[in-house]
Amino acid sequence: MATLNLDELKSLLEVTNSKLRDLEKLDLNVDMTRGKPSFEQIRLSRDILTNIDEEVFDRNPNIFNYGIGDGIEEAKQLFASMLEVRSDEIYVGGNSSLNLMYDTMLKAMYFGMVDSNRPWMKEDTVKFICPVPGYDRHFAICESLGIEMITVDMTPNGPDMDAVEALVKEDASIKGIWCVPKYSNPDGAIYSKETIERLASMETAAKDFKIFYDNAYAVHFLDGEFIEQESMLEACKNAGNPNRVIIFASTSKITFPGAGVGVISANRESLDYMEKLIAAQSISQDKVNQLRHVLFLKDFDTLLEHMKKQAAILKPKFDIVLDSLKSTVADERIATWSNPRGGYFISVDTYPGCAKKIEEECARLGLKITKAGSTYPYYDNPKDNNLRIAPSFLGRSDLVQAMDVFTTVLQKIAIEEMLK
Ligand code: PLP
Repeated sequence: MATLNLDELKSLLEVTNSKLRDLEKLDLNVDMTRGKPSFEQIRLSRDILTNIDEEVFDRNPNIFNYGIGDGIEEAKQLFASMLEVRSDEIYVGGNSSLNLMYDTMLKAMYFGMVDSNRPWMKEDTVKFICPVPGYDRHFAICESLGIEMITVDMTPNGPDMDAVEALVKEDASIKGIWCVPKYSNPDGAIYSKETIERLASMETAAKDFKIFYDNAYAVHFLDGEFIEQESMLEACKNAGNPNRVIIFASTSKITFPGAGVGVISANRESLDYMEKLIAAQSISQDKVNQLRHVLFLKDFDTLLEHMKKQAAILKPKFDIVLDSLKSTVADERIATWSNPRGGYFISVDTYPGCAKKIEEECARLGLKITKAGSTYPYYDNPKDNNLRIAPSFLGRSDLVQAMDVFTTVLQKIAIEEMLK
């Protein structure tokens, strides 16, 4: 991409301003804030609603009663294949993985983890490493429990491991790190084998250090190809730190968001510890929904076929966003963006100091985008240069218009800032 000179920038600003005047007339009212699946995607799973009949009911009486608190065996097998772990290393929970993450963090604070000397809340300070840009709801969990967040930069291969290793080696109050290992939210990064092995084996001052490994997008490819990834649980076992990782996942973006099935996977010793604590809070999760999901998704191959249908709907939307950025942004300083192979987001790095203004100007034109700063803890991005685009929910024509507004505003604000 080119670097424009001063005169070129000024004339581009004029063209951009005149395009904006036209876009103002659109009277747009579009919400692109969250990565929600579209109705078309949700419809792919509608057989879940009708796949339990009397025969299924009669064959599985125990599933419709209290008990089997750690989840039905068939669901454990399905999720084990998805997460590349053993089925006895799976706990099947309720409708949301985020809920399991919050619950696990709260348990760590109140009781400690399997290898803690005392509850984390008894420590003077508890800190977590947050790779940035990252997922706002991870940050919200830390913030709500008073856990201090330390940022490290993301790279296309995962967090900057030199920075992570230096931090955790020295500071015993750092109890863990958030990770989204595949098609990371928001930049689509895929953790490399080296990153996974370094996380598993690094020396940590806290002996109960935990990797909160949110594998929310394990099978969410856009290009039709499932990517195998080094198993974090195996890597931790091989490094002699079997209890270091707690893996989370759900079917929220496989079947129904908020009405899917959430899971935890960890070393058996960790799971025993957590399941003992869970026993005091729950007699049974929603096993009927677990059964519905097993009957629908069947096995790993059928699950992948289903994800190909999801990708066929999602990929053209990502292409609209990427084509729009490519065809509008005329100078490499104005913005750079991720080109993800999966997941739900495109991360846009703007010219420094522009993200908030872009968000505000888009809102003025009727386009709501994810709040600037939300990809950073405390909404505090010192460079004010990152925005998250979530293309999944909108229909084609809304998305084209939304991107027209977004890219034009992005260009206008950046050039104005550059000309200051
Ligand atoms: N984790 C990540 C990284 C996400 O992006 C999302 C949803 O956007 C979730 C978790 C939410 O998962 P659940 O619906 O299972 O609570």
